[in-house]
This record gives sequence, C-alpha cells and structure tokens, in this order.
Amino acid sequence: MVERLSDFRSDTVTRPTPAMRAAMAEAEVGDDVFGEDPTVIRLEERAAELLGKEAALYVPSGTMSNLIGVRVHCKPGDEMICEAGSHVYNYEQAGYAQLSGVAARPVEGEHGVLHPEQLAGLIRPADAHFVRTRLVTLENTHNRGGGRIQPYRTVEAICRWAHQSGLATHLDGARLFNAVVATGIPAAEWAQHFDTVSVCFSKGLGAPVGSALAGSSDLIAEARRHRKVLGGGMRQAGIIAAGALYALEHHIDRLAEDHANARRLADGISQIDQLRLEPEQVDTNLVFFRVDPRWGTAEEFVAALKSKGVLMLATSPVKIRAATHLDVGTADVDQAIAAMKDVARRGG
Ligand SMILES: *Cc1c(COP(=O)(O)O)cnc(C)c1O
Repeated sequence: MVERLSDFRSDTVTRPTPAMRAAMAEAEVGDDVFGEDPTVIRLEERAAELLGKEAALYVPSGTMSNLIGVRVHCKPGDEMICEAGSHVYNYEQAGYAQLSGVAARPVEGEHGVLHPEQLAGLIRPADAHFVRTRLVTLENTHNRGGGRIQPYRTVEAICRWAHQSGLATHLDGARLFNAVVATGIPAAEWAQHFDTVSVCFSKGLGAPVGSALAGSSDLIAEARRHRKVLGGGMRQAGIIAAGALYALEHHIDRLAEDHANARRLADGISQIDQLRLEPEQVDTNLVFFRVDPRWGTAEEFVAALKSKGVLMLATSPVKIRAATHLDVGTADVDQAIAAMKDVARRGG
C-alpha cells in the first residue's frame, strides 16, 4: 500500500505554501490592464530590480514570456539563433514562427551549452535571398541539458559577439535562480548580458502562476502591447502576482536544498546497475537518467515506480527526468531511491 506520493515529474507541481496562500488572500488588487494593480506593479518592480533592468512585465507563462521576448526583437523574416535542445525551440510549438513569422537556426550544444566558436559565420549576408539574423537566445539553466548551468564566461562571450554583430540577446531564464543559487553569481550579473530576460515563478520558486519578462523600459512597453494581443492582459492579477512576489522574497535561497536533494538522488541512481545518469554531472535540480533497454522502456520503469508512490517523467523511450522542488524533501528522495532499486531488481 502506498502511503504517500512523491512527485518528481516537474518543479511545476508545487502547491502554494500556507504562508504564500495567506499573502495571496491578502493581496491588494486592482485592474492591471488599467495599470492599477499595486501587487502586480510591486512584483514587476521587484523582478526588474533583481534582474538589474529598467522594467519587467508579469505574464501568465514562460511560453508567453519567451514568445514576447523574441517578438520585441524580431519581425517577420528575421531569424533567431538558439540551442537545438532548447525549450523555446522544442516545447513552445514554434510560437515564434506561428505567431511572429520568425525563423529559428538551431545549433547543437553540449548538454545545452553553445560555444562561441560555433556561432561565428552564422550571420546571414545582407542579401535578398536570406532571412535576417537578428537574435541569439540562450537558456539558463538548460532543461534538456540536465539542468546545466551555462558557463558564465561563455555567456559573456556569446552575448558580446552578438551585440558586436548587431544582434539582440534574449535569455530564457525559467530556472535562472537555480543558476544564481548554485554559482553565487547574482541574477543581475547574469542578466546584464541580455537585452531581455524571462524568469518563471512557477518552477522551482514554487508560485502557482506566472513569469516575468525584464528589459529596457522601451522594450517592456512594447512587450506590454504584445501581451495584450496574445490575451495575456489580466485584471485583478495581484492575487497570483502575490504568490510570485512571496516566492521572490522567500523561496530563492532554499533552491540550494533542491540542488542537494538532486545530488542525493543522483548518487542513489549511480548505485543502480540498470540505470545510468545522463548527463552524469548534476548542476542544479534536474536529474536525467537512462534505463537499460534489457530492463525495459522508460515508460515501463515510470509505471512501475508509480505503483510504489513515486512519480517521474519519461522524456524519451529510454530516458527519465526527475526534478526536485519545494514539495519533495530528503525523505522523498530516499523513498524514490529505494523504489528505483526495487523496480530495477524486479525486471533485471
Ligand atoms: C517551463 C519552461 C518554459 C515555459 O514555461 P511555462 O510557464 O510552462 O510556459 C520555458 N523555458 C524553460 C527552460 C522551461 O523549463
């Protein structure tokens, strides 16, 4: 009999804590489309301040934040350079193409990390045959790269090259605060290299809804227009913004616990013959591992784990992702390791 479920599928599954719910219940609100929601305004100011930007915009999701981020830099017929495994390229329905007429130029990185040398020569000549290269988008931490932190010097070099080449830069920082906590490099320092930065409140920070896009006042004013046409203008959004604000105030430093739990989980996985960490290096809160096909498929492994009260996500026929977050503690990690050992033994 399963006593409790430990949910490692994603860091989006967290529920607001009682203190966060209290902050939401008490939030002062107004009509944010009229610019009259004091809580949304406070959240946007705080996000801008943390990211060292002039302004920020509260949006319903990371997908919308990236969509608008690309949109403020590019027009139809422009091209964005991005990493081939990136979220914006793989998991957002190519919204930049569907809705903004923008082409993507994916470049294969190493666990999500692009090297500056790979980008030289990618800018299209000014000639009527070609799209116009306009933007470089990076992702930090990199989800499919295994929660990989982009090396700071690499980010700096890529963005310097982009700006010197007349390109804009956008950061998908859905999990930027994981990189901040793991490296000790402040968010504003990472963000200074980018014209726009998107951060998610609904991932490791544990808020129920929303992301923010930060940048110059001009770009964010433009972003506000795009948010409206996409249907992202919300009214008394202070209710949910209060959860995000609470998360910024109370849930950043604790991401270190998630990182420690991810390492503990990875250590456990590395002791199991039928499983292999991939990548082996676990930088933050995401752990990816491969199931030996002689045991069975990733789906089968996940189904067997579920019967033991542990939820994980099969991301391919052979690969599984586990994310640590606010709602899984060390005891859940130990339960998961025990369950994985049991399951692996049974099939092997
Ligand atoms: C989750 C995620 C997004 C999108 O956020 P949603 O709020 O789910 O739309 C974007 N980029 C990365 C790297 C993510 O992990």
